[in-house]
Amino acid sequence: SRALTRAESLIAETPDYPEPGVLFRDISPVLVDAAALGAVTEAMIAPFAGTFDVVAGIEARGFLLAGTIVATAGVGTLPIRKAGKLPNPAASIEYHLEYGSAAIEAPGVLPSGARVLLVDDILATGGTLGASRKLIAELGGEVVGASVVLALDELGGERVAGPVHSPFHA
Ligand code: IMP
Repeated sequence: SRALTRAESLIAETPDYPEPGVLFRDISPVLVDAAALGAVTEAMIAPFAGTFDVVAGIEARGFLLAGTIVATAGVGTLPIRKAGKLPNPAASIEYHLEYGSAAIEAPGVLPSGARVLLVDDILATGGTLGASRKLIAELGGEVVGASVVLALDELGGERVAGPVHSPFHA
């Protein structure tokens, strides 16, 4: 659609951030634009209509996408947090970054067997979404899919994250 094409053109690119040679993408111009945000979130969930009970958003831009999706899909949302933010995480998964490691955590609120759609802004190496799949499994949920705004295909993130749907590719 025209709204979706325009939304893609809004994604901002900053060369050499956070380090030389990296092209950083920012979806903030999409989030602030009602028509673009609506078109993007609609495209993110289109293949998964009726298949999920909960949208799990990954801190922090994933929270905003998840909140937008659940407002129209009539389902609930689970925040997946960066480590160290929750007093009593029910599960914690460590994963590798280029330098060092990171961990994600979630509260123990997911109903057993809940069908979960994972959402985030960008798929890069796939480490974050791969860890999120394990986290949901550890919480007793079933991941029905993963969706991002933009997948950076050259990085081969699906090898680590499993299948990831996205309206935009770079
Ligand atoms: P991955 O774990 O390497 O796939 O990286 C994905 C995570 O890093 C996501 O949570 C993104 O928000 C973040 N990320 C990676 N690349 C970018 C970027 O170019 N812009 C904004 N966030 C990014």
